[in-house]
Amino acid sequence: MMYSQTASLRSAADQGLQKLIEGNQRFKRGEARFSTVCKETLADLAKGQQPFATILGCSDSRVPPELIFDANFGELFIVRVAGNVISPEVMGSLQYAGAHLRTPLFVVLGHEGCGAVKAALEHKLARREHLSRIQNLVDCIVPGLKEIDSQLSEQQQLSKAVEANVRWSIHQILETTEGQNATKAGARLAGAIYEITSAHVRFLT
Ligand SMILES: [Zn+2]
Repeated sequence: MMYSQTASLRSAADQGLQKLIEGNQRFKRGEARFSTVCKETLADLAKGQQPFATILGCSDSRVPPELIFDANFGELFIVRVAGNVISPEVMGSLQYAGAHLRTPLFVVLGHEGCGAVKAALEHKLARREHLSRIQNLVDCIVPGLKEIDSQLSEQQQLSKAVEANVRWSIHQILETTEGQNATKAGARLAGAIYEITSAHVRFLT
């Protein structure tokens, strides 16, 4: 019984991941399907929501998850915060998505040229102090950037740091009991990077 539940959650997570990949392909081809409102969909959604994935993404205006995954209303539960960082409030939203909405798939979505990650690199490598609240945000990112090689070019550093920051958020989610239980039960937690220049979402392995 336990096994079949785990298998079905896993299968729903895999299907969700495939939907995201295909949605991004449509978006890249300029064949997005969900550009207009459908009254029947809105009437259905008024009864409740059953999103198939939860996305923790950055606030950056160039990375709107519904558009880049060509997802419809009600399909994605989204938490957006600069630098896709983990905070108690973010964890609360993720816990809600897991416990109440039961989304089988969670994606931490970073992106090329992330300003919040760049600010964290500046703090780490050049000791730059940012404005008070921005510094709070930066302080959430810096611990995940321990292995960034200062010999790399600035562009390479930022690219490595964006990926390290996604992995850092994933690491923090997996440190929680809820995160561990969800993945044991078959839910999937994936990292991804949106490449702004190509509109491609690269899923991390
Ligand atoms: Zn960003």
